[in-house]
Amino acid sequence: MIKFNTLRTQLMLGILLACLTILSAQAFIRYYYILPAFETMAQEGDRQDLERVASQVRQELESLHNLVYDSAVWDAMYNAAMHRDSDWFEENYLIPESYRRIHINGWYLYDRSGELISGRSYRDDGTELVPENLSSSTKLNLNSAGNEAPAQPSAHTLFTRIAGNPAVAIFHPVLPSDENGEPAGTLVLWRFIDQQFVDSLTPGMAGDIIFHSQKALPDNPEAFSLNFASGSPVHAQPFKGRLYLVINSLQNTPLFALSIQPRPRQYDNSLFDASLIAGILITLTVIAVFYLWVNRQLIAPIASIHDNVSFAMRSRDFSRQTPYRGRNEAFRLGRKLNEMFALINHQRNEVLQHNKQLEKISNTDPLTGLANRRHLDSYFRNLPLPVRAGGGNIAVILADVDYFKRYNDHYGHAGGDKVLKQVAALLRKNTRTGTDIVVRYGGEEFLIVLQQTSAQGAVKVAETLLNGIRLANIPHESRDDSKHIVTVSAGIAWQREGEPLLPEKLLKKADDALYRAKSSGRDCFITEGQTEAPLRAGGA
Ligand code: GH3
Ligand code: MG
Ligand code: MG
Repeated sequence: MIKFNTLRTQLMLGILLACLTILSAQAFIRYYYILPAFETMAQEGDRQDLERVASQVRQELESLHNLVYDSAVWDAMYNAAMHRDSDWFEENYLIPESYRRIHINGWYLYDRSGELISGRSYRDDGTELVPENLSSSTKLNLNSAGNEAPAQPSAHTLFTRIAGNPAVAIFHPVLPSDENGEPAGTLVLWRFIDQQFVDSLTPGMAGDIIFHSQKALPDNPEAFSLNFASGSPVHAQPFKGRLYLVINSLQNTPLFALSIQPRPRQYDNSLFDASLIAGILITLTVIAVFYLWVNRQLIAPIASIHDNVSFAMRSRDFSRQTPYRGRNEAFRLGRKLNEMFALINHQRNEVLQHNKQLEKISNTDPLTGLANRRHLDSYFRNLPLPVRAGGGNIAVILADVDYFKRYNDHYGHAGGDKVLKQVAALLRKNTRTGTDIVVRYGGEEFLIVLQQTSAQGAVKVAETLLNGIRLANIPHESRDDSKHIVTVSAGIAWQREGEPLLPEKLLKKADDALYRAKSSGRDCFITEGQTEAPLRAGGA
C-alpha cells in the first residue's frame, strides 16, 4: 500500500514526474525539430544526386547534339540537302557500322519542306527498323502533337516514342559552314533510351542508375521525383526505396524514368535513438543518485526522528538513543532529540525514584519501620484474586502491649518509643518475610497478617510472638499485676474456607478477641469465637 503523505513517496513521485517530463520534452524536440532537420538535409542530398543524374543525361545529349551540329553545318551536307542528294547521304551516313560505333539508331535528312530525302534506322542488334513516324511516306512530324513540319527548322532535342520505345531525337537545321543564309533542310539523329543508354552515362554512376519504362512508373511520379525538363523544383522523395528522375514526352506525360538509390541516412530516424536513450539513462542515473543523496541526507534522519518520537510517545520509553552522524540540520535535529530524550529520561527516572521513596515513606511507620495502615489497605487490595475470593487461608493476629500507658508514665515517652521499636523488631523476627506482614496498627497495637495459614497455624504464630516478647525480658516495673516485664495480648481471627475476604470484618473479630484477651488477664491470646479460658503462652 503506497502512502502518498510520506516524504519518500512524494519525492519519488516528483522524480518520476520530472523523468516523464524530460522524456516527453526530449522526444518532442527530437520528433518535431531534430528529425525533420536531418530529413531535410538528407533530402537535399538526394535532390543533388538526382541533379547529377540529370546533368549526366544532359551531357550525353550534348555530345549527341554536337554530333548533329558538326554534320548540319557542313557544306557537303548543305549541298546534299539543297539538291536532295540521297545517294551522298546514304553513302556517308547510313552505314550500320558507324551506327553501332557511336551508339545511335537513326539518321535522317529532310528538305526544307519537311520531306524526307533519306534516312534509315537500325535496332541495337543491327537489324533494320522502319519507324512509322520516320518513314519516307511521312513528313517530318516527330515534334509535338502536330504533324506539320515547322515553318523554320530549328535546333532542338525531343524525347518521344519511336517504335513503341522511349527515344531521344536531336534536330538541327542544315546550314552552310558559315551558318549564314536559309537552312536547306533538317538533320535528325535519334537513339533509343534504354538500360544501354543509361550504362553509357558517366561510368562512375552507371551501375547505380536503373532505367524504368513508362509502364513501370508509379501513378503520380510528380509527387516524388525530380522532373528532368523543369530542372529542380520538385521535392525529391524516395519511392519504394529509390529516387526517380522522370522524363516527360512533349505531351508532358511521363516517358521513362531513371532511378537511383537514395543516400543511406546517416542518422537513426527512430524516435528513441541511442542518444535519446543514453540521455534518459544518464538523467535517470543522476536522478537516482540525487534521490539516494536526499534520502540519506534528509529523509532517513527525519524518518528516524519520527520513528523515535512515535515510539517514545507510545511506550513512554525515552531511553532510545540513535546515532545521527551527519552535519546538516536534519542530523543536528536528531542529535538534539537524543539530548532531549536523555533529559526527559533523566528527569523521569528522578521523578520515579522520588515517587518510590514517597510511596515507601507514606507506607511506612517512621518510628518502628513497620508497614502502616495505609500500606495494610493496599496490601489487602493487592492480594491475588483467588485469595480474596476465599481460597487464601488468611489469618490475622492483633497484638497490643499490656499496660503501656503505665510504661510511658513510668519510663517516659522516649522509653515507650524504645519499647515499641523493640516489640516491632521481635514481631518481625518471628514472622515469615515475603508473604506475611507486620503492621503498626495503632499506638501500641500491631497487626500481623499471615497468608496460607490455618487457625491452628495462627495460634502457633501467636504463641511464638508472645513468647518471643516475654523472653526478651524487657522490664516493666509499674504494671498493675505481678509480672514486671513487657508483654502483649493478642486476638486471632481467620478467613473461612470459601469465604470472601472482608478485612474490616476480620479485624473486628480480631479486635473482639483481643478485648477478651485483655479482660482475661493479659499476656495471652484468644481466637475468635473461643469460649473457654485463653491459652497462656509460655505456660504462665
Ligand atoms: P492495656 O493493657 O489495656 O492495653 O492498657 P494500656 O495502658 O496499654 O492501654 P491504653 O490504651 O490505656 O494506653 C495506651 C497508651 O499508649 C497511651 C499512649 O500514651 C501510649 N502510646 C500510644 N502511642 C505511643 C507512642 O507512639 N509512643 C509512646 N511512647 N507511647 C504511646
Ligand atoms: Mg491499646
Ligand atoms: Mg495496651
